[in-house]
This record gives sequence, C-alpha cells and structure tokens, in this order.
Amino acid sequence: MTIQWFPGHMAKARRQVTEKIKLIDIVFELVDARIPMSSRNPMIDEIISTKPRIVLLNKADKADDFITKQWISYFKEQNIPAIAIDAQTGTGLKQITALSKVLLKEKFDKMAAKGIKPRAIRALIIGIPNVGKSTLINRLAKRNITKTGDRPGVTTAQQWVKVGTELELLDTPGILWPKFEDELVGYKLATTGAIKDAILNLQDITVFALRFLKDHYPNRLQERYNLEELPEEIVSLFDEIGKKRGCMMQGGYIDYDKTSELILREIRADKLGRLSFETPSQFDHED
Ligand code: GDP
Repeated sequence: MTIQWFPGHMAKARRQVTEKIKLIDIVFELVDARIPMSSRNPMIDEIISTKPRIVLLNKADKADDFITKQWISYFKEQNIPAIAIDAQTGTGLKQITALSKVLLKEKFDKMAAKGIKPRAIRALIIGIPNVGKSTLINRLAKRNITKTGDRPGVTTAQQWVKVGTELELLDTPGILWPKFEDELVGYKLATTGAIKDAILNLQDITVFALRFLKDHYPNRLQERYNLEELPEEIVSLFDEIGKKRGCMMQGGYIDYDKTSELILREIRADKLGRLSFETPSQFDHED
C-alpha cells in the first residue's frame, strides 16, 4: 500500500480512528514483531487513551523467537498484554478472545449487574500500513476477501465482523502512520518491507541492514553468502556479496543497486532465517 502521509492526511486518519474507538471495548494494536517499536504510531497511547489494549506482535513467523519473547516481557512490564501471532496462518489467534475476556471481565460484570443484556466484545484493529491488518481481519472472520475499499454512493456505515460468538470487530481497521521522521526507524521499516524502497535511498537501506546483520547475526550473513570471514568495512561486505552473486556492471564494477535489491529481497523472504531488527534493551533507557 502506498499512502503519502501529509499533515492533513495524518489529522484525518487520527480523527477517523478516534471516532471508531468510541464504538469499541478494546483495541488490538497490531505491530510488526521484527520491529515492534518502529512499527507503532508515535501518538498511539494518546489516541487509544483509556481503552484497554492488546499489542499483537504480528509476522512472528518472520521474527527471531528469542527476541519476540523479550518483547512480550517488555510490554508486560508496562502493563500492556502482548501476544505473538501469525495472521497468515492463524497461529496465536485463539489467545486474542480469551485475553480480551479477561481484560474486560470487570466491565462486562458491571453491565450484567445493571441488567444489561450480554453482548459480544467489540474490538478495533489498529496499525500502520502493511502490518497485516486486513490479513488478520480476514483470518479472524474466516473470510477470504481483502479490502472492500470505498464505493461511491454507498453509505459507509460501520460494519461488524463476527469472530465466533464472543467477539466482533469493526470491518475496517484503524490506519495510522509510522514514526518515519526518525531516519533509523525509516531504515527498519524499509528493510522489513513496510514502506517502499523508493522512499529512502536503496543503498542506504542496504548499508543499514548489512551493518545490523554484521553486529547481530554475523553467522547468518557468513552462511548465506558463503563468506569465510566478515570484512571490517561495510563497503567491502557489499563488494563481496555483489561479486559472489554476480551483480556486476560492464567493466567489472559492482552493481550496488542490483546487489542491494538482492540482499533486501533475501532478507524479506527469510533467506537469512528469522530476524528481529530491534530489541527491548535498545529502548530500556528511553521514555
Ligand atoms: P495491512 O495494510 O495492514 O492491511 O496489511 P496486509 O494485511 O495487506 O498485509 C501486508 C502483507 O503482509 C501481505 O503480503 C500479507 O500477506 C503479509 N502478512 C500479514 N500478516 C502476516 C504474518 O503474520 N506473517 C507473514 N509472513 N506475512 C504476513
């Protein structure tokens, strides 16, 4: 999805989400398990306000399991329940209803005490583009259609999608923008494929990715690209991979764009295994 986020669009998105939040009991905040902080909206706490929330670490099938567990503890320490899920295959989804019931028990008990007829829990899925919102809604609703889109002339009343008997979702998710003012966040979003490569310089994204892999997953790099040892300089690493994979231009020069495309494609296709691009320890001392 390509949304160009301008201040006007951000304000509109925020307004839309704020309206939807009024209709629901609980928010499911969808983030990318590989970059749980960089794939969040910077104003999310303010926007959700006092509604209960569950953080869903999606695409957990692509993330480093060990780090995902650290993230779950990290959120727990902040009193935010978090679950690792894979919206594509449905792994982890059963926990969502169960946990929602626990978090809303008091509210629903109070409603019952007042004689209000029991109803399903109402939820809204919120997240930045490409984090898997449609996939999750379709999976939970056990349906196979993607976005309905805006149809001119059709009133866009909110529709509820049933998830079993105990939960219902608004059928259109809340879409918010990522925190892309921060260059590092931009590189992480680009590396995982959340934003188009064209937004940042392709070779810069690859330099970020290679540097990260060299520091955190050196063995994976060595194995994938058959490197006896990792060169000190990132440029040399770039060169070696380009040479090994035949990404050359006329005259025997390395084609850095071609090499970049190859490396990023392989990272995103999990050819270097399951990777996480940020860890809670990097955020421990931040607000
Ligand atoms: P949205 O923009 O938030 O609605 O994101 P989509 O639902 O369109 O998903 C974006 C891409 O991520 C699609 O190619 C999905 O197939 C893929 N995707 C979504 N969830 C998962 C997941 O849990 N695991 C994996 N591997 N891919 C996923």
